[in-house]
Amino acid sequence: MKDKRSRRNTSTAFWGLMYKLATVAGATHVMFVGLFYGLGAYTLAKVNLGSVLLFALSYVCLKKRLNLLAVGLIMLEVLGHAILAVRAIGWDSGFHYYLLVVVPVLVISKTRIPAFKPVMLLTLLLVYIGMDMVMRDLPPYDVLSAQTLSGLRYFNISVTFLLLIYLSGMYLRLVTKAEDALRVLATTDPLTQLLNRRSLLEIAEYEVVQRKRHQAPLAFILADIDHFKSINDQHGHAAGDAVLRAVSQTLRQASREQDSIARWGGEEFLILMPDATQDMAVKVAERLRQQVQMLEVPFNDTVIRVSMTFGVSTHQTDEIVDAPLNRADAALYQGKMAGRNQVVASTA
Ligand code: GH3
Ligand code: MG
Ligand code: MG
Repeated sequence: MKDKRSRRNTSTAFWGLMYKLATVAGATHVMFVGLFYGLGAYTLAKVNLGSVLLFALSYVCLKKRLNLLAVGLIMLEVLGHAILAVRAIGWDSGFHYYLLVVVPVLVISKTRIPAFKPVMLLTLLLVYIGMDMVMRDLPPYDVLSAQTLSGLRYFNISVTFLLLIYLSGMYLRLVTKAEDALRVLATTDPLTQLLNRRSLLEIAEYEVVQRKRHQAPLAFILADIDHFKSINDQHGHAAGDAVLRAVSQTLRQASREQDSIARWGGEEFLILMPDATQDMAVKVAERLRQQVQMLEVPFNDTVIRVSMTFGVSTHQTDEIVDAPLNRADAALYQGKMAGRNQVVASTA
C-alpha cells in the first residue's frame, strides 16, 4: 500500500514535469514562429507552427490523462522538429542538439514496459547518427547567412545546455523532496507526529557523546499514561488514539525548544532534555503532569480525562544511554506503585 502510494507520488511528479515541459516548449515555439518568419526562414516558421500545435495537443492529452499519447506527441515533436529544422536550414543550425535533451527525460520516465527505455534510447541514437550521415552535407531549403546560422547554432547550444541544467536540477529537487519525505516517515510516529523510539535513541546517543566533551547535564523524563488500558476498554481504541494525540500535543507544547520528545512505546513517552539538571527536569515533569491532568479530550459525547506518571533521571559521566533510561524506568515504576499521577526522581 505504502509502496504503491510512493510510486504514485514520483510518477505524479514526472507527469508534472511533462506538463511544465509542454507549456514552456509550446510558448517557446510560438516565439520561434515569429523569429523565423522575421529571418526569412519560412519553411522553419511553418515547422514551428506544427510544433506549437503538437505541444498544445500533448498538453490537452496530459489534462485528459492520456499520458502515453502525450509523451508520444512530445517525442514526435522533438524528433520531427530536429529533423525538419536541420533539413530546412542545414546541419550547422544545431537543431539536432535538442535530441540530446530527450536522453535524461527517457531515462527518468516512468513506464511499466521493461524494454521501453533501451529501445527508445537506441532508436534515438540511431536517428541521431542517421541524421548526421544523411543530412550533414545536404543543401538546405532556406539559405541563411553564415552569421545568422552561427548565431542560431550558439543559441541552440545554449538552450540545450539550459534545458539539461533545468532537467537535472528538477530531478535533483525531486529526489531531495522524496528523501525528506522518507526521512520524516522513518523518524516520526505516525499517530502522534512525535519522534519515534529509534530516532530519539539516536539523538540520545549523540547527546551522551557530547557530554564527554562538555560537562553540561542531560536529563531524561519517562512518562506513562495511567490506566490507559481502561480508556481503550471503556471508550474504544479510537478514543485511546485521540488521548494519545492530545497528550502528545500537550507534551510538545509544554516543553522547551531544545528538548526532544518521542513516543517511546504504546502510551509511554520519553523527553530528552540537554543542559537540564535533575531539579530542572523534575520541575518540567511536574508542570507537564499538571497540564495533562487538566487536559480534557473530547470524544463523541464525552470528555475523557487522564493522568500520567513521570520518572526522571540524569546522565552520569561515562555512562551509556541505557543507564539513565533504566533509572528513569525504575523511577516511573516506583511512581506507579505509589499510586500514579506523580513525578518520581531517580535517587541513583
Ligand atoms: P498503568 O497505569 O499501569 O500504566 O496501566 P495501563 O493500563 O496504562 O498500562 P498497560 O501497559 O496495561 O496498557 C497499555 C495499553 O495501551 C495496552 C494497549 O492496548 C494500549 N495501546 C498501546 N498502543 C496503543 C495505540 O496506539 N492506540 C491505542 N488506542 N491503544 C494503545
Ligand atoms: Mg500506562
Ligand atoms: Mg505503559
